[in-house]
Amino acid sequence: MTETPTTYGGVDPALARSLAGRTAAQQPHWPDERRVREVRAALGALPPLVAPAAVDRLTERLAEVAQGRALLLQGGDCAETFAGNTPEHLRANLRTLLHCATLLEVASALPVVPVGRIAGQYAKPRSRPVDSDGLPAYRGDIVHSAAATPEARRPDPQRMLTAYADAEAALDVVRATTAETHTELFAGHEALLLDYELPLVRDGYGLSGHFLWIGERTRDLDGAHVALARHIANPIGLKLGPGATPAQALAYAEALDPDRRPGRLTLISRMGADRVSDALPPLVEAVAAAGHPVVWLCDPMHGNTHATASGVKTRHFDRILAEVDGYFAVHRALGSHPGGLHLEFTGDDVTECLGGREDLREDQLSQRYLTACDPRLNGRQSLDLARLVAEILLR
Ligand code: PEP
Ligand code: MN
Repeated sequence: MTETPTTYGGVDPALARSLAGRTAAQQPHWPDERRVREVRAALGALPPLVAPAAVDRLTERLAEVAQGRALLLQGGDCAETFAGNTPEHLRANLRTLLHCATLLEVASALPVVPVGRIAGQYAKPRSRPVDSDGLPAYRGDIVHSAAATPEARRPDPQRMLTAYADAEAALDVVRATTAETHTELFAGHEALLLDYELPLVRDGYGLSGHFLWIGERTRDLDGAHVALARHIANPIGLKLGPGATPAQALAYAEALDPDRRPGRLTLISRMGADRVSDALPPLVEAVAAAGHPVVWLCDPMHGNTHATASGVKTRHFDRILAEVDGYFAVHRALGSHPGGLHLEFTGDDVTECLGGREDLREDQLSQRYLTACDPRLNGRQSLDLARLVAEILLR
């Protein structure tokens, strides 16, 4: 893990001022700073990937979620890869997103806002700097290759330009799917890699995607990621794990939603099935008491990851469902709106998460374990989960 003081030349001067002296967690050690500056300048000269008007439309739709009149469904790969950036894979993920959204829509009688983890989900934060082979941990295709050699893991700034081109191509698929379905689909990712994100800040918007979130590992209130989020007008997500205190949740709401604007801030709880019932209520109550109209979203994936005896990272369907169930129970008890779900899934027939209707077992994980980072629900498991969530909504 790296903590680097930020010195970003060439970015919006007001943004540069608010970033000055702040540390940015989880940034790569680029081997060649001159090349990074060139790539940042090249990104800064490229057109924005999304339009401010589309970002504002998403904020308006999320305002409906914040006010209890809609639900939000976010989902897609944990880590998008350059090799996986094919129309087939993208469409399979978007179809899964829309299919799940429809199931929730029917059960809740509320519109569901679909946001993909797509067209920019190329950078990963890691809890350990070194992987099980003793190599620098894989930080996403935007930084280096996942291949297990020291050369492959060397950060290459040129990859940020490939990421931009891939995001552009993925957004074409997103827009084509929107045109077919008459439902506007939006793109979101973790705004992690600042050398990529900052040159795409234009006119007070982060135009690398519609929805940008801050992860559990980079949410230092005084850090660069929160400063970036404060500067931009996008709808912002913030992940909160079981260690988050009510005072912290409130401080984030004050920092990121000072105007109490519905749709601006989504707090994404990722507590784990065992912790959601005790850890979530005090956060919801503190934020509500201060009058912040946030969207509360449930990420039932990241608090429920474990390794099998042979060291394969996985998640059990039942634990994922248990966290969702606990999250709905918390909101029902408090009278707050359960805003929706944030999932890691793919429409592809992978074998990465255990359980589900087909009761995937540990010895089957290796059959099609294709994720570049965390285990995803496959298409079947995703629809099963959405059906069970629909039952919860109908209770
Ligand atoms: C993720 O969404 O892939 C992720 C790393 O989540 P978190 O920041 O909640 O751990
Ligand atoms: Mn993940």
